[in-house]
Amino acid sequence: MRPNGAIAIVGAGIGGLAAAALLAAQGREVTLFDRFDAPRPVGSGLVVQPVGLAALDRIGAGTAARALGAPIWRMLGHEARSGKAVLDVHYGPEGGARFGLAIHRASLFHVLHEAAKAQDVAVVTSAEIVAAREAGGARELVAKDGRRFGPFALVVDAAGAGSALSPLRARPVPYGAIWGTVPWPGATAIPDDRLSQRYYRASKMAGIMPVGRLPGETQPLAAIFWSLPHAALGAWRDRALDDWKAEAVAFWPDFAPFLDTVRLHDDMVPAQYSHGTLGRPWGKGIVHIGDAAHRASPQLGQGANMALLDALALALALESDADNPMAFYAAMRRWHVRAYQAMSRGLTPQYQSDSRVLPALRDWVMVPLSRIPPMPGMLSRVVSGDLLPPLAGQPFP
Ligand SMILES: Cc1cc2nc3c(=O)[nH]c(=O)nc-3n(C[C@H](O)[C@H](O)[C@H](O)COP(=O)(O)OP(=O)(O)OC[C@H]3O[C@@H](n4cnc5c(N)ncnc54)[C@H](O)[C@@H]3O)c2cc1C
Repeated sequence: MRPNGAIAIVGAGIGGLAAAALLAAQGREVTLFDRFDAPRPVGSGLVVQPVGLAALDRIGAGTAARALGAPIWRMLGHEARSGKAVLDVHYGPEGGARFGLAIHRASLFHVLHEAAKAQDVAVVTSAEIVAAREAGGARELVAKDGRRFGPFALVVDAAGAGSALSPLRARPVPYGAIWGTVPWPGATAIPDDRLSQRYYRASKMAGIMPVGRLPGETQPLAAIFWSLPHAALGAWRDRALDDWKAEAVAFWPDFAPFLDTVRLHDDMVPAQYSHGTLGRPWGKGIVHIGDAAHRASPQLGQGANMALLDALALALALESDADNPMAFYAAMRRWHVRAYQAMSRGLTPQYQSDSRVLPALRDWVMVPLSRIPPMPGMLSRVVSGDLLPPLAGQPFP
């Protein structure tokens, strides 16, 4: 059960790069595979929560990430018609040491890639891995074009939500969103130290988040998003862009300056969400981390953190003297993953669904309750990612 020998990591995304940097730093022979011609990130911005930042610090990428990202101390959302604040979560005192780091995916990718490069991780690109076959007590990787790689003592499946190696069959959720990255406008009423959102019931949602800057650039950026049912994505593409922009501005006038540079439908990228968790994220010679092991809508903003924590747990498990390090990895993460998956599943329809009852409950029951101590502190810990110990039995963060 103890993998001594070469390790293959499939997927040079957030979890794969983090695992590569950590395992190579332990002196292991690590090869990272990705389907892309050159490793590159897809998508807009995300929030690395305080636990994710602590994991980045362990990887040695925290300082570089802080230099590129934008700290946010609060998540604030208003109902469009009543003007009521229906989401108001603070990480801690504004300007304090506890914050979420909103960052462009390309910047997070950059700092993790640099950390992996510093450990001389070998990278094989243009390799779409479709299988990890058992071969004489080891695993061999099979690429779509027929190439074979290995044998490897351990395959780490970090291929994300579309992993061909994971048995996880996640259930799509009815709503997704379109996301764009735009320059932070010179004149705006939106503060650049928080995530701002606006809702109508749960059927409309728009958001604006500062995401810092790209490596080598100085322009501050914003991630913007607009919630849409999956079934409506096609209709959105068929609709004149100016028509949608007019609807968005009527819904939220402060959105207007953020839409100035959105000129094509392709400036907004659709994202589909799904929910699902593997009961046992490992098998003989293979272990699943990140979205390959568990998927959730980004309502709680935990997916990248989960991938970083999985990578850290795997590295700790491989260094431990446990008889079965894979089972130890799974045990370290089990309750944290399950709790956050359950909370994400419960929360999503309150903010993205056709329900009228759930957003009414949100506005008239949940939000008033959330203001009564000790709820504000608990909510802060929920979003920070440490309501439960992220790595059971380990002193972390
Ligand atoms: C719109 C959106 C917003 C989000 N916001 C947040 C947020 O605010 N905070 C947060 O923590 N999380 C957020 N998430 C979730 C987060 O992005 C994911 O959970 C995280 O990226 C998962 O990391 P991963 O390493 O498992 O997979 P990924 O980062 O997706 O990486 C997977 C990698 O595997 C490669 N790959 C895939 N298939 C193959 C193959 N067959 N062969 C070889 N390589 C392959 C891909 O090219 C990619 O490089 C958001 C997600 C979305 C979609």
